[in-house]
Amino acid sequence: MKSKIIKLFHARLYPERCPFCLRTIKPGEYLCRDCEKQIPSTYSMNYAVGGYPCCSPFFYQGIFKNAIKNIKFKSNRSIIKKLVLPLAECIEKAYDLDEIEIITYVPMHKNEQKERGFNQSELLAKGVSKLLGIPCRTLLEKHKENKRQHECPTRAQRRNNVKNVYRICDNENIKGKTILIIDDILTTGITLGECAYTLERFTHSRILCATFCARNNLNE
Ligand SMILES: [Zn+2]
Repeated sequence: MKSKIIKLFHARLYPERCPFCLRTIKPGEYLCRDCEKQIPSTYSMNYAVGGYPCCSPFFYQGIFKNAIKNIKFKSNRSIIKKLVLPLAECIEKAYDLDEIEIITYVPMHKNEQKERGFNQSELLAKGVSKLLGIPCRTLLEKHKENKRQHECPTRAQRRNNVKNVYRICDNENIKGKTILIIDDILTTGITLGECAYTLERFTHSRILCATFCARNNLNE
């Protein structure tokens, strides 16, 4: 009896929410009706700089842009848990799961992570790892602090800004493997490209990428 009361109390305090617009939904539902209508039937396939394939279930606009904000909202783990589902589904459709041996993510500099309290790409990677049954490892670290990419006005400056800021921090048994790198958004593909290149250069691994959103004007 007591647990039922606690459950009701919990449901009142933490109602089930649509992971995209955060509106309250019925327990057991995944998303609200309005957002459901906006879910695309296919994923998009793009490339990070260097030609590394990158699949994304959504474009960075409307409710999906909103979802990125929700991912960055630390305390709401249940929202992240839900948003991991379409990403995992997209990876399953885009790649041969049997070939992916390790999942990893784009790291943050330790000061940046301390400020935010967590790395949203790591949370997505761990969620996907759990759903797909593929181990997630921290293979890269960001050892240099740099400017935010959007603070660099030109493409050349953005490329320069991420150059050599990542390095491998765990190289145990990763040579020649197929590795999937996860990030939240594919914007210019420069950051993911640099991470992929860092891993590829030292491990001769095959690198695949996946992000929750992709910007829909990647070639501009
Ligand atoms: Zn909604």
